[in-house]
Amino acid sequence: MNMVDIILKKKEGGELTEEEIRYFAQGAADGSIPDYQLSALMMAICFQGMNAKETTCLTMEMMKSGGVVDLSAIDGVCVDKHSTGGVGDTTTLVLAPLAAACGAKVAKISGRGLGHTGGTLDKLESIPGCSVEETEEQFVKQVQDIGCAVIGQTHDLCPTDKTLYALRDVTGTVCCVPLIASSIVSKKLASGAGAIVLDVKTGSGALMQTLEESITLAKAMVDIGTQAGKPILALVTGMEQPLGTHVGNALEVKEAIDVLSGRVSGDLLTVSLELGSRMLVAAGIAKDVEDGKARMRDALESGAGLAKLKAMIAAQGGDARVCDDVNLLPQAKYHVEVPALADGYVADMDTTKIGYCAQDLGAGRKKKTDAIDPAVGLVMDVRLGDFVKKGQSLATLHINNMALAEQAIARMQEAVKLAAEKQPVPPLVYASVSPEGITRAE
Ligand code: URA
Ligand code: CA
Repeated sequence: MNMVDIILKKKEGGELTEEEIRYFAQGAADGSIPDYQLSALMMAICFQGMNAKETTCLTMEMMKSGGVVDLSAIDGVCVDKHSTGGVGDTTTLVLAPLAAACGAKVAKISGRGLGHTGGTLDKLESIPGCSVEETEEQFVKQVQDIGCAVIGQTHDLCPTDKTLYALRDVTGTVCCVPLIASSIVSKKLASGAGAIVLDVKTGSGALMQTLEESITLAKAMVDIGTQAGKPILALVTGMEQPLGTHVGNALEVKEAIDVLSGRVSGDLLTVSLELGSRMLVAAGIAKDVEDGKARMRDALESGAGLAKLKAMIAAQGGDARVCDDVNLLPQAKYHVEVPALADGYVADMDTTKIGYCAQDLGAGRKKKTDAIDPAVGLVMDVRLGDFVKKGQSLATLHINNMALAEQAIARMQEAVKLAAEKQPVPPLVYASVSPEGITRAE
């Protein structure tokens, strides 16, 4: 097989055969195909696309490129939730304990922050002592005993994706439906889940900023999962503003604890219930979405969800007392308000810019090797549709280095757009995509 022929075929819009896709996926994993040829093929895929058969084949080859987690020792269906990435999106830390409290088995392999988006592993590590490294045996035992575990990769899952993702990041080929869909679904299949609920974000803080692209991505992933024989569905949810009000690692853990304690509700809880109820349906625990939401709410009100988070943190070596006293989480030295420059309604947010602002303050990495500061980030003081007066706070920066304040204030003032007229507030759930079809919210 010749890589140049494969690149030329895709460049001209041809359909790649299974053998060609296998050659490419294996060559990416074992290093036998040079980066420039892998990059050229991915750019051709960006322009010419891949049909459903090619995308499914690529996904399966990526999954087979490394190990597959064996969760068969766990009783019941293991359900997983995966988000395409957002800002202030702490749904995992809210819904995993709630779903576990309802009897679901949530064995979740999560990631680190990527670009402007946060990562659940970084959030968990902000809890004193909490580890996200477990052996597969410990992982299985924790899920069996407690009902939930959230950790990093146990062994080499999807090495093809590792190579391709790193190249995509630096060659302008991240935003491409078949490449994103195969990247995400291959990792979900390799992490052993019995059923998968996907949260495809749409809007100014999402990978896919338009609704139609987001629905296309959701449908591609549901089709692949279905081809692979997994129960799978996707919700397309709004990322027009940070989902929760807190952006930053310890700050987001605090918000999840506030939600599970019943002190805070809002969009983070709403989306967590939408996704979590579908996990309960997929696990065969709830008879429908309404029943699932009622069960999740009961677990919230009884405190059973918070108790599960405590148990999970303790099992992972962390100081579970943070669930009773959020002041035990790392705290930034300074709180600095970002004043509005005029009177007006909050009309639009550049949510990607808000994510990068938190990253600049030290909440995320610019390079893989950067250390993150668990305490820093920002708390939004306004939501879309709010009216603010000039000088009123748009957001509060939580910082340890005052030298970063001035630039962060200017960026936040740019990111939060004010208008004289009140704009309609965008919906939280835009569509649901299942093997049966697409249902758009009214
Ligand atoms: N997340 C992934 O894991 N892969 C992508 O391609 C995009 C987001
Ligand atoms: Ca917008």
